[in-house]
Amino acid sequence: MSAEIIDGKKIANKIKEDLKDEIEILKKRGNSLFLSAIQVGENPGSKVYVRAQKKSCESMGIEYNLHQFNENITQEELMDSIRKLNRDPNVSGIILQMPLPSHIDVRKLQQLIDPKKDAEGVSPTNMGEVVYGKPVLVPCTAMAIMEIINSTKVKLYGKEAVMVGHSDIVGKPTALLLLDKFVTTSVCHIATGERGSLPSYVRNAEILIVAVGKANLIKGEWVKKGAVVIDVGINRVKGKIVGDVEFEIAREKASYITPVPGGVGPVTTAMLLKNTVEAAKMQANK
Ligand code: NAP
Repeated sequence: MSAEIIDGKKIANKIKEDLKDEIEILKKRGNSLFLSAIQVGENPGSKVYVRAQKKSCESMGIEYNLHQFNENITQEELMDSIRKLNRDPNVSGIILQMPLPSHIDVRKLQQLIDPKKDAEGVSPTNMGEVVYGKPVLVPCTAMAIMEIINSTKVKLYGKEAVMVGHSDIVGKPTALLLLDKFVTTSVCHIATGERGSLPSYVRNAEILIVAVGKANLIKGEWVKKGAVVIDVGINRVKGKIVGDVEFEIAREKASYITPVPGGVGPVTTAMLLKNTVEAAKMQANK
C-alpha cells in the first residue's frame, strides 16, 4: 500500500479561492483589509517568511505593512508600537514575526494584541476560546492541520490520534481542536522521547501529527498501517528541506501523508489570509 500524498498547495488554493468573494465584499463596503507585521532584527529565515507573507497578501488584495525594528528595541517600545496598531482604525490584523530577541517577553506582547486584530490567534483570549471549544481566530498551523485532516474525509469521531510536540502555537491548540472532534488524543513531548515511549505511541496512532523540528525523528517503520500522517516539521538537511517523519518508508504504511515541502506550509499561509479576513470582518462589525 502506498499513501495518497496530500497536496497542500491545492488545499491552499481552494481556501484562497473561497476568500476572494469575502475580500470583494469588504472592499466594496470600504472596510479596511490591512495586515501589519512587526519584525525585530535581521533573522534571515524570518525575512524570507515576511517576503512570502507580503507577496501572498498582495496577491489577494490585502495591504501589508512591515514595521522593522533594531535588535536593541526595548520591551516598552515594542509594547507602544502594538498599542498604536491596536488603536489604528486602518489596521485590521497584527502579526509578530518570530524569533524575537531574548530580552523581549513575547507573552506580554501577545497579551497586548487586540484579540479582534490577532491574525495569528496567539492572544490569551483567542487561545482561551480554543480551550472552550468556541474558536474564533485560531493559530494558523493548527487550523491548517485540521483542514488537511478534513480534506481526507476520514471520520474523526472515536479515532486515536497522537500529537508529537506540545508547543503553544502548534501542538497544544491542535490537540484541543482534535479533542473537540471526539478524537482520543495523546500528546507526546521531549519526556516521551527521553523515556523511549515514542515508538509505542506512534504505532497506535490512526492520526499522527508531528511538529518537533528534528529530521527523521519518526521512523517510517513505526507508522500504523492506514494512518493519516501530518508532518509539520521543517528541517534543512544537506541543503534540502525535510520533515520530521521518514517519508519514504512512512508512505508505504500510511493511507494519507503530507510531503515536506508542499504539505502543511502552504495551508498555514492560506490560514493566515483567512484569519486576516476574519479579523477584518470583526473590525467592520465593531
Ligand atoms: P517548538 O516550539 O520548538 O516545539 C517543538 C516541540 O517538540 C516541543 O514541544 C518539544 O518538547 C518537542 N520535542 C522536542 N524533541 C522531542 C522528542 N525527541 N520527542 C518528542 N517531542 C520532542 O516548535 P514549533 O513551533 O511547534 O514547530 C515545530 C516544527 O514545525 C519546526 O520544525 C517548525 O519549523 C515547524 N513549523 C512548521 C509550520 C508550517 O507551516 N509548516 C508552522 C509552524 C512550525 P519540549 O518543549 O518538551 O522540549
